[in-house]
Amino acid sequence: MYGVRKFGKQNPNWKGEDVGYGALHSWVKRRKEKPRLCEKCKKKPAYDLANISGKYKRDLGDWWWICRHCHMVEDGRMSNLINSGREFTEEIKRKISASCMGRKLTEETKRKIGKASAGRKHTEETKRKISETHKKMPKPWLVGQEVSNTTRRKMSIARKKYWRKRKQLE
Ligand SMILES: [Zn+2]
Repeated sequence: MYGVRKFGKQNPNWKGEDVGYGALHSWVKRRKEKPRLCEKCKKKPAYDLANISGKYKRDLGDWWWICRHCHMVEDGRMSNLINSGREFTEEIKRKISASCMGRKLTEETKRKIGKASAGRKHTEETKRKISETHKKMPKPWLVGQEVSNTTRRKMSIARKKYWRKRKQLE
């Protein structure tokens, strides 16, 4: 990083700590000339080189010089994109299944659960199926942010209600 000639002023909000990204970024930077104005709004001075598609292609056409403002907007869009597309970590998975428990169950899921608890406790198989179903659901509440404490509290209340209801059904 120190070897990069004039480009020492890295954006402090930099998210791409990843070495691969950094190398790619400077590769593009060396080849794509910085224009005077932002390539997006064409109003403000170009400030940073940003990726367009979110795929970080080794392709000059997938990058543009944009101003600070546009970069912030892009970053927001990008982190949503990345979060919604990313493999979920175990931690997030746990949060999802916790929040799904608190949500209104669909008729389908209810039926599945009903069947499962008629048999007896959830088998691993059933659990997997249920969590598959949840994975397919859109998760707008996850995009871009941590589940807040309030949400978590709400979830746990909802979850308690859910389990109480289930007990009555059994
Ligand atoms: Zn701009």
